[in-house]
Amino acid sequence: MGTTAQTNPVERLSDREERVIAAVPKGLLIDGTWVDAEREGAFEVLDPSTGLPLASVADATPSDGRRALEAAVAAQQSFALTSPRERADILMRAFEMMHERIEDLALLMTLEMGKPLADARGEVAYAAEFFRHFASEALRINGGYQTAPAGGARFLITKQPVGPCLLITPWNFPMAMGTRKIGPAIAAGCTSVIKPAPQTPLSMLALGAILLEAGLPAGVVNIVTCLQANDVMEPLIRSGLARKLSFTGSTQVGKTLLEQCAQRVLRTSMELGGNAPFIVFDDADLDEAVSGAMAAKMRNMGEACTAANRMYVHESVIEEFGRRLAEQMGSLSMGRGTDDGVAVGPLIDAPAQQKVSELVADAVALGADVLTGGEPAPGPGYFYPPTVLSGVSRRARLMTEEIFGPVAPLIPFTTEDEVVTAANDTPYGLVAYVYTNDLRRALRVGERLESGMVGLNQGVVSNPAAPFGGVKESGLGREGGAIGIDEFLEVKYIGLAMR
Ligand code: NAP
Repeated sequence: MGTTAQTNPVERLSDREERVIAAVPKGLLIDGTWVDAEREGAFEVLDPSTGLPLASVADATPSDGRRALEAAVAAQQSFALTSPRERADILMRAFEMMHERIEDLALLMTLEMGKPLADARGEVAYAAEFFRHFASEALRINGGYQTAPAGGARFLITKQPVGPCLLITPWNFPMAMGTRKIGPAIAAGCTSVIKPAPQTPLSMLALGAILLEAGLPAGVVNIVTCLQANDVMEPLIRSGLARKLSFTGSTQVGKTLLEQCAQRVLRTSMELGGNAPFIVFDDADLDEAVSGAMAAKMRNMGEACTAANRMYVHESVIEEFGRRLAEQMGSLSMGRGTDDGVAVGPLIDAPAQQKVSELVADAVALGADVLTGGEPAPGPGYFYPPTVLSGVSRRARLMTEEIFGPVAPLIPFTTEDEVVTAANDTPYGLVAYVYTNDLRRALRVGERLESGMVGLNQGVVSNPAAPFGGVKESGLGREGGAIGIDEFLEVKYIGLAMR
């Protein structure tokens, strides 16, 4: 058994790859125009499968950031007055354009982020779905009319856009994490400045071009790419010009941003890290549990906040489960995401590869057995093979730290109480997965797990129509679903005297 490595060096980009990259604007999007950064600063975007440069994009300075926020502020009032239908139509046009261009967008994403083309296509469709979903939600922003309890006065309750927003996204889902914020912001009538991760700016820049073509007015979405995130974003947070920050990224950075936001009492949405337990009871359908584990672990090479981080398997089935999981994970083909048949791309960069290697080495030093994988692949690129570890000590670092890579640690359990306690023994609370054929147990355990989301007999929970988000240190607020738009709306009550 063993992962098929296909890490042949790529000397140059194909003509099509060159064309797709060349078509993307490389500047900052400020007030509807693509502009250079101050002093023409730029940074390189690298191909994680080779470590070689793909393109150079603008590196914004703090004053570029300020101009972008001023453009958002200037556009806010008129955008708030647009009709819900106008905003919905823009989102629907962008949704359709994303589907028309899905092949080019997927290739672009694979080149800068590394995920296999099939996964990148899946993400483009998922990302576009947020636009379609929030196009509908724009039309459903509602209010209320009520008689005061003592009679006389009337309450009119209405919802208004929060105002200019700052949006910060990570590299792991470079398009979907953007549309999950931009979609509800536009639907609600908010303008924004978005800062994508420096590893994957091209996907966001391509999205910006689509939004302009779809008829989005100038200044409504501004895009600031930069290497010095704190230098550019902190003054914007502290400026008093923005009214909200929506952030997706690590818990550590989220905490820093919350402190900064407190100074201006900004509304915040925080989609932070996870440490998802994946629980398999002895009455589960093992075929379904293994395929659910494959999805929960291998989606995005394990580089997902929802990735199964700790696999608790009942002691009576753990050996069989581990054998089947190792067989399936070990047979996946690893290589450049653009190559046919590749199911596992590279990790995002050298530090990510180093971190996964260290976590596995630590678990092995504490007694874990390697059922498949276990060593980083030689370069070029930042590959780490799908790895299954059994007999993992509860003291191993990967029990408490987000792995963010294709590593599945297996831990046996005996009783329901014991596994629920272990699953909840973490400051995180994003998602948990439970496999069982006992409906009462499924609901009982589902209710006891301290997480914002639970997958019952399913290994993927993300859906634009469902409220996505975590509890504890996994975040604040929800994205998607019917309530996703509320994150970008303020409730206003107008009292009317009837005397
Ligand atoms: P990260 O290091 O927290 O970075 C996320 C974004 O924040 C990047 O654009 C980053 O830019 C920026 N950033 C970092 N420090 C900043 C600062 N002081 N001020 C302003 N912006 C700052 O996270 P990551 O490594 O990119 O992403 C992985 C993390 O995201 C994982 O923990 C994962 O669980 C989490 N995530 C959560 C969800 C969810 O929905 N809950 C979804 C996806 C990912 P720079 O890189 O330039 O610093």
